[in-house]
Amino acid sequence: MEKIILIKYGELTTKKNNRNIFINTLCENIKKQLKNYNIKIIKNRVRMFIETDDNIDEIVDILKNVFGIHGIVVAYKVDNNIDIIKTSVLEIVKDIDFKTFKVETKRSDKRFPIPSMEFNNIIGSLVLKNKENISVDVHNPEYELKIEIREDYAYIYTKEIKGIGGYPVGVAGKGLLMLSGGIDSPVAGYLAMKRGIKIECIYFESPPHTSIAAKNKVKKLVEKLCKYNTNIVLHIINFTEIQEAIYKNCPSSYMITIMRRMMYRISELVARDINSLVIINGESVGQVASQTLNSMNVINNVSNYPILRPVCCLDKLEIIDISKKIGTYETSILPYEDCCTIFLPKHPVINPVLGKAIIYENGFDYENMIKNCVKNREIITINNDINKFDI
Ligand code: ATP
Ligand code: MG
Repeated sequence: MEKIILIKYGELTTKKNNRNIFINTLCENIKKQLKNYNIKIIKNRVRMFIETDDNIDEIVDILKNVFGIHGIVVAYKVDNNIDIIKTSVLEIVKDIDFKTFKVETKRSDKRFPIPSMEFNNIIGSLVLKNKENISVDVHNPEYELKIEIREDYAYIYTKEIKGIGGYPVGVAGKGLLMLSGGIDSPVAGYLAMKRGIKIECIYFESPPHTSIAAKNKVKKLVEKLCKYNTNIVLHIINFTEIQEAIYKNCPSSYMITIMRRMMYRISELVARDINSLVIINGESVGQVASQTLNSMNVINNVSNYPILRPVCCLDKLEIIDISKKIGTYETSILPYEDCCTIFLPKHPVINPVLGKAIIYENGFDYENMIKNCVKNREIITINNDINKFDI
């Protein structure tokens, strides 16, 4: 019997007008994630079917991380003919161990002559007759046999695997993720992708104060995020000149505030350059001195670009839980230094004053430095061929 993967869309079906864009984007994303497999995709308005001779379990594992998929079912595809369905059911249940079961039929092809309830009874009695020591339990069955009768074929399956949900990456447009090597920003990126945002990443490095290992760690994180986004462009900004100028010209308590104002300015320029509609970062209220509401206000003041902070109201432990679940945690906790940590002052200001920040940063010609950073940035594309970056 031929096996087929059946994909249920979930949330996107509620967006009626955009449905075609959603389905086509999801289909493209699936094709990219499964580029190493020989597959054929058939799609309609409520379902997608993937046919393949390759390893179904491997394919299902990949599909579990594709946003926009609500449920995945591995089904047997048979002709929608009563006798064929009957023999197929017996063949399927023959080797499965259970004591209680129920049959659930869905008939979307109303030309099929038997109503769903009646067909449940027919198939239920057939199974009872052919297996010993079993009974029907409609409330809490050990085994559920589902039969979907559609225009072209009937699909017989048992359990539905939960999909990751969300919207297909890309349907919401593009966002620029400020990605450090920490725990929070990869999680922020993941959550943004979940809402359909195609991300590019920006990373600030300060060689020689930050190492190649720190940069590779960020590349590795991008590679891990590709599991959800197929390929991701990474913009690497050489931040050394600006950071050294801040170090020289500003009081140490304001260094982080001003450094982050510079990061925002640069991120906005890059975002505009790549037509990204929003900036995304991993800030979480109160987590560090630069993330008090007061600090956020003074830092954000340099830009009126929309900034999404998907983890802003999560506890650190909640963020860690997600990072473990999405596979970035192990990389995030590697010890390589971030450009912030190197110039970290002993007593960063918790309640910075906007006027002071402006006076301090006007002590050097940051505008030219910023333009140069943006112009000379390194741009690389990382894709989902795993384990290219060994660190
Ligand atoms: P993370 O765990 O994501 O590093 P954090 O708790 O260390 O976050 P900060 O260092 O204050 O917090 O940074 C807040 C956010 O600013 C980060 O989540 C990230 O989005 C951005 N950011 C910080 N440093 C960098 C960097 N070197 N390159 C790019 N973005 C950065
Ligand atoms: Mg950090």
